Amino acid sequence: MRVCVVGAGVIGLSCAIRAAEAGHSVHIVSAQPAAQSVSAVAAALWFPYRASPQERVLAWSMTSLRVFRALADDPESGVALRYGTELHRREKPDLWWAEQLTDLTLLGGGELSGVIAPNPEVLGGLRARLPILVMSRYLGWLEQRCADLGVAVSAATLDSLTGVDPTADAVVLAIGLGAGDMLGDSEVTPIRGQVVRLGNPGLTDWLLDEDDPTQFCYVIPRFDDVVCGGTAEVGQSSLEPDMATEAAILARARRLVPDLADAPIVSRAVGLRPGRREVRLERCDDLDRTGRLVVACYGHGGAGVTMSWGCADEVVGLLAG
Ligand SMILES: Cc1cc2nc3c(=O)[nH]c(=O)nc-3n(C[C@H](O)[C@H](O)[C@H](O)COP(=O)(O)OP(=O)(O)OC[C@H]3O[C@@H](n4cnc5c(N)ncnc54)[C@H](O)[C@@H]3O)c2cc1C
Repeated sequence: MRVCVVGAGVIGLSCAIRAAEAGHSVHIVSAQPAAQSVSAVAAALWFPYRASPQERVLAWSMTSLRVFRALADDPESGVALRYGTELHRREKPDLWWAEQLTDLTLLGGGELSGVIAPNPEVLGGLRARLPILVMSRYLGWLEQRCADLGVAVSAATLDSLTGVDPTADAVVLAIGLGAGDMLGDSEVTPIRGQVVRLGNPGLTDWLLDEDDPTQFCYVIPRFDDVVCGGTAEVGQSSLEPDMATEAAILARARRLVPDLADAPIVSRAVGLRPGRREVRLERCDDLDRTGRLVVACYGHGGAGVTMSWGCADEVVGLLAG
């Protein structure tokens, strides 16, 4: 089939790759290139955060985990496997996301020295080795893979499905937050995320503290820098970094990881996660008046990178009918 993928974020590129690998002739149309997408702002740790429904999210995420583990052998991909700790502030943390992971260690509060500065509010943690992706490199790797597979890319903002190349037999809508405008999907909501990146003083392990939303904090060392976050402001769409928010992010990160005290700010960014009550991944041919096969794949919230390969596989399955 001739497949038009609308959107060139992590979801669109992954879908395009899997569709081309399945033998389809694929063309991507996107308003913005990957480097300017929300995907480029992702931290990006493999972690199923702020996405539903849980069962599908977990299945998609586990598929991606297997792919990322293999990609970590290729330094060009920007994927690395790193140990790190999710901190727990509750007696009974919700570990739904980790139920299928092997190789985990549950830590008691007394076993966190060397992980964080002493903090009586933190009751324990979960240590695991998970993928971290340097998105600038990873998106470039995905684009190159598309090029190698003969996927054509063009720039255009589509107002509706009428604008899709009429010769396409099938359309994949990987438009993230754009589904609000293009499809009139009122369930799509921005979830604003702000990050600040510091020079890396030599950290290798990631840290996640999201048990208490008022303390929401992550520290993700990449190669040269450390991504510190974050915020999850539902319905907010300002793309301007807020300096008071940045100061609060840095204060939380430095309280947990004092080694960051003197690390210089290298860059800052804001991205709008495509929030939705549930990820929309389904056939929706009724959106198109010309009878083409249409698959929607958007609304991945805070875990689009994490779910990308699992979603791409399912999209290609739907293309097969
Ligand atoms: C601060 C921050 C940290 C994050 N950290 C993580 C993390 O650690 N792990 C993780 O898994 N996820 C993380 N995320 C979430 C992740 O970035 C998103 O879930 C993911 O990028 C969504 O990918 P997407 O391809 O659906 O959307 P996008 O990257 O937004 O791509 C959508 C594409 O569609 C195009 N488009 C939209 N409308 C139209 C139109 N009408 N016509 C043509 N093209 C259109 C856009 O130009 C764009 O190319 C984070 C997000 C933020 C903001």
